[in-house]
Amino acid sequence: MKDTATLIKAVHFAADRHRDQRRKDKGATPYINHPVSLAHILTDEGGIDDIDVLCAALLHDTIEDTDTTAEELRTHFGERITSIVLEVTDDITRHWTVRKQTQIDHAPYLSHEAKLVKLADKISNLRDLLAFPPHDWATERRHAYVDFTSAVVAGLRGTNARLEAAFDALVARRVEIA
Ligand code: ZN
Repeated sequence: MKDTATLIKAVHFAADRHRDQRRKDKGATPYINHPVSLAHILTDEGGIDDIDVLCAALLHDTIEDTDTTAEELRTHFGERITSIVLEVTDDITRHWTVRKQTQIDHAPYLSHEAKLVKLADKISNLRDLLAFPPHDWATERRHAYVDFTSAVVAGLRGTNARLEAAFDALVARRVEIA
């Protein structure tokens, strides 16, 4: 029961913090669909039932993309969940090219839990790119994004075979990118 309550608290917290944000696809999907998809990928495709990993997945963009602080997450969700979220949070004071390279460089050194969240994040983003391409991204940028996510995932291998296979199946569909 405690686990279920924590999980629902994380869904509620993330939905509240992302309430005014939309994804970049044509239909402007509510942002919260993204963190929820990570949690679903982890349970449904990765077979993950670690509540802290699932909560971290739900909360993974709250520090990076909303005004949520690490201190707030610590207060509400404790140290383990917060530290996983911090591991997958980019330093937004850095230029995006630096952030991308840092993601690639740091991937192999993330904790097992953070690697799971990162894998689900890349699967979710790539799936969205294929299903609902961002309307303002040229073909070249879409392909560059596949290259970038592949470089990050290269550093996450050996973490969860099913998630890695799901990612590879998406990369194999890159020919569909127009
Ligand atoms: Zn994300």
